[in-house]
Amino acid sequence: MKKLRIVVITCLTLSAILITGLTYKQTIFASQKPEPNITKSVKPKHHYLLVMGHGAGDPGAHGNGTTEAHFLRAKFLPKLRKYAKEVKNSRVTFYNPKHDIVRDTLVFHKGSYKINKKTTVIMFHLDAGGGTYAHGGHVIIHRPIPTKRDRRLAHVIKKYVGLNPAYHGYSYRTNLRNCNVLRRRGIDYSLVEMGFITNKHDFKKINQHLDQIAKNDIEAITHETIK
Ligand SMILES: [Zn+2]
Repeated sequence: MKKLRIVVITCLTLSAILITGLTYKQTIFASQKPEPNITKSVKPKHHYLLVMGHGAGDPGAHGNGTTEAHFLRAKFLPKLRKYAKEVKNSRVTFYNPKHDIVRDTLVFHKGSYKINKKTTVIMFHLDAGGGTYAHGGHVIIHRPIPTKRDRRLAHVIKKYVGLNPAYHGYSYRTNLRNCNVLRRRGIDYSLVEMGFITNKHDFKKINQHLDQIAKNDIEAITHETIK
């Protein structure tokens, strides 16, 4: 009797293991199979690559006791990252802050060359200079007429820092090396000049509203509302 019981238990255990194994196998195979219905209904998220200007040995502009590269990476980047996590319909990533995209591109033939052509690149910079017009920001655009995204980005600058009086929001330029490698490959981009690092008032406003600027920039880029 005892022997029979052991045999029965053993059989039951073995079949349980077998069933579990089969179910597992089926699950694995099922997950490997493409599911056309799901694939069709889910739109792939658009990828935005955010690039902090300069870095990797190039400090960029100097002013108000800091550099463009340091300020953008140490102060602005963490805030952008925080809000980038909140968006649902886009994928926002950041170019390695230890690297300089221009150097990677022009010296090593990597950087911009490695970017997928469907990606949109947004570059952040701070301006430098002296004189009457050395304040306010603008957006460097990749087509003669600003896109809706460019307009939203310029609006953020206008709201928190003010626009540069010489550009009225936009500057269409075809002589920038970091932009041209993207332009030639047909990659969409905007370059945001957030304001002048050399101007006391600009720099104060940027610091005061840095969190709001980051949030509004992520919203402007992705055209999503973050709560
Ligand atoms: Zn710069």
